[in-house]
Amino acid sequence: LIFLGLESSCDDTAAAVVRHAPGTPPEVLSSVVAGQTELHADFGGVVPEIAARAHTEKLDICVEEALETAGMSLTDLDAIAVTAGPGLIGGVLAGVMCAKGLSAGSGLPLVGVNHLAGHALTPRLTDQTEFPYLMLLVSGGHCQFLIAKGPEEFSRLGGTIDDAPGEAFDKTAKLLGLPQPGGPSVEREALKGDETRFRFPRPLLDRPGCDMSFSGLKTALLRERDRLVAEHGGLYRQDRADLCAGFQAAIRDVLAEKSRRALSEYLSLSPTTPTLAVAGGVAANKSLRMALEAVCEQFNTAFLAPPLALCTDNAAMIAWAGIERFRAGQVDGMDLSARPRWPLDRTAPAMLGSGK
Ligand code: ATP
Ligand code: FE
Repeated sequence: LIFLGLESSCDDTAAAVVRHAPGTPPEVLSSVVAGQTELHADFGGVVPEIAARAHTEKLDICVEEALETAGMSLTDLDAIAVTAGPGLIGGVLAGVMCAKGLSAGSGLPLVGVNHLAGHALTPRLTDQTEFPYLMLLVSGGHCQFLIAKGPEEFSRLGGTIDDAPGEAFDKTAKLLGLPQPGGPSVEREALKGDETRFRFPRPLLDRPGCDMSFSGLKTALLRERDRLVAEHGGLYRQDRADLCAGFQAAIRDVLAEKSRRALSEYLSLSPTTPTLAVAGGVAANKSLRMALEAVCEQFNTAFLAPPLALCTDNAAMIAWAGIERFRAGQVDGMDLSARPRWPLDRTAPAMLGSGK
């Protein structure tokens, strides 16, 4: 099967071609990602209307480039997969419209994909991980533990009840005058800092289960920053590095401890320890990766972090999730709709901040 994938649910416009023959590893023939960071730079966050317009402008170009790099034309494809939610509705609509146009023009089947399923199925694209496995999805908009049981079967063990960690990294960078996206710039500063100087809260660790909370962390950081500024009339370089290190350590410790709980919870349901896979932009954080590796060592299980380009938003994961859905007999028609909210776990209550 050869699928074209389209992604436009947040601030990256992406198109990719993925090929898969049963019994062989899937191949990413092309993966084009056009970011919009500079378009939103002056606004301190993604502006939905600007994002939607940019997606509309860039989708065709990305598709053309993805096909050209893969050496394919539409007639070589088997279907078109597109993110149909969750996300910023204008962007999702732009992607769905583009996919419908391509499908109508070529007669190719259309497969709508849940963006979160795209992230959650990435370990199968990169490493052919067998179901079931445990997934920590940790990005700019999401943070949740999922048991992946099948292409469309996920159960949620818990997640953030307020902010996502990526969002917390971005806000912290903003508070400290560091460039966006916040994750990489805070991580860079943290390398020069002492993580023990400021002890930031690790919320909900005293409570059982896998739920997390990150909004208090930002308030605590703001308080320390204001105290330091009041003390010396500004922020010394070392203060900033120490704040970043302390902040990163708090996020890492919460995610590591909750991963331990998720693995234990899984073990209480099944006798075999699952692979723990991570996806989402925050999975790029080295301190977090090392902590999660250590957790997996304790549990004597495999830790899997896909290459960074496939951890952050991309269309290869959408093409792949489309292939998985298609194989499971799922195809959509021209009535495919864009969904701003779309929880992966149908049994889960809609959770604040974690389902977008
Ligand atoms: P979603 O996938 O939930 O719709 P998104 O598109 O914002 O949201 P991603 O593209 O997966 O998410 O990730 C972007 C987020 O990852 C940003 O918030 C960014 O700050 C964070 N991030 C990137 N690199 C790092 C890093 N090294 N350390 C921590 N966070 C990081
Ligand atoms: Fe994403």
